[in-house]
Amino acid sequence: MILYRSTRAVEGAADVTFDEAMLAGLAPDGGLYWPTRLPPLPLGWEAAKSPAELARSVLGAYMGAEAAAAVAGGLDFPWPVKRLTDDVFVLELFHGPTAAFKDVGARSLARAIEAALIGRDERLTILVATSGDTGSAVADAFAGLKRVRVAVLYPAGGVSPVQEAQLTASRQGVRAFRVEGTFDDCQALVKAALADPALAGVNLSSANSINIGRLLPQSLYYLWGSARVWEELGVTTPLEVVVPSGNLGNLTAGLLAAETGLRTAGFLAAHNRNDFFPRYLAREADAYAFDASVATPSTAMDVGAPSNFERLFSWLGDDLRARVRGCRVGDAATLERMRVTAEQDGYLVCPHTAVGLEALARLRAAAAPGERRAPAMVLATAHPAKFPEAVLEATGRRPAAPANLRRFTDAPKRVESLAARPAGLRAALLDWVD
Ligand SMILES: *Cc1c(COP(=O)(O)O)cnc(C)c1O
Repeated sequence: MILYRSTRAVEGAADVTFDEAMLAGLAPDGGLYWPTRLPPLPLGWEAAKSPAELARSVLGAYMGAEAAAAVAGGLDFPWPVKRLTDDVFVLELFHGPTAAFKDVGARSLARAIEAALIGRDERLTILVATSGDTGSAVADAFAGLKRVRVAVLYPAGGVSPVQEAQLTASRQGVRAFRVEGTFDDCQALVKAALADPALAGVNLSSANSINIGRLLPQSLYYLWGSARVWEELGVTTPLEVVVPSGNLGNLTAGLLAAETGLRTAGFLAAHNRNDFFPRYLAREADAYAFDASVATPSTAMDVGAPSNFERLFSWLGDDLRARVRGCRVGDAATLERMRVTAEQDGYLVCPHTAVGLEALARLRAAAAPGERRAPAMVLATAHPAKFPEAVLEATGRRPAAPANLRRFTDAPKRVESLAARPAGLRAALLDWVD
């Protein structure tokens, strides 16, 4: 069985099991867990008939058969591929309960944690900082579990009204905190609480993309999507993979799939104006030279200091620059791409997906004449109806909400306000009565 090591482990430090790494979230030394070994994909993975079957065949090596089966149980919604043009495919990852790809990681993690806690007489409190989509996905995935309760922290004014309705829907065992600050402040509060000795008596963990239990299952849709595109094309040709990126968890999962055997033509990390990573790739910024976050239409990608950079950098170092291309897309270009995609392709996309499509268009426009271009797979990370204001502004059209989103509109709400200081969250966690 594979063991896991913190990105900050010192020589001789003990490695931990998957369950230990997942239940801890962040390593005690403040680092992020990563497998000590990356097993090659099982032969014939392309033939899996469903995401759940793919989970059972690929994830067992990382987490054991039981946890892999538990994860498979949470992957109960489709990941369809839509052909936008001759050689551009969109992998729709937004058909889960909260209409964003975060459902994949959150539901996987919830199932795996529940499986791990069975047999241990333990309760766990999960902290999650969210720029919108993670929080609702996690709250939804964990709601009602007997051994786990969840505190969700989101930036006041930093999420869309639809997202806020999802985040604050009253759920058993879930508290929503509206933080006077940015997403980075929320993330800092979570990190401070996890390291706070005063909270040692509360069994705390995190469900951000820093949790390895969320990240590993996310590698599955890169495999699934590639296999669907190859079927459609009738040829197994490496794809240009375009990832709308913020905290870089999604990209990390994709690079893991490639490292273990998925053939690609490369990765394109598409960022909004929060562009530390593209600048790092272009040698315009040093590693870890993060910026404060700025607000853009693709709110879930408004991350100034992406947590997973530490994971990527400690794994690949400057070799990252050889594996990933970066692109920064401004706000006006994002909305313009939404408009063009609606007009030319008759397809409404959310602002995050639009950042990916625009980055791809620029990559292709910059190619040398006659250069052979790979078909592209762009990850569609959220349903357009999650961002109706932006879609309306860009396209003049109001996206129809799918049933899974409509159910939040009328749900009873519950939310608490919090200052961006550790003391407030500490008090709330110590006083939690349920
Ligand atoms: C979280 C999120 C992203 C960014 O994913 P990371 O793993 O943080 O890079 C992109 N789009 C949407 C809709 C998201 O919710």
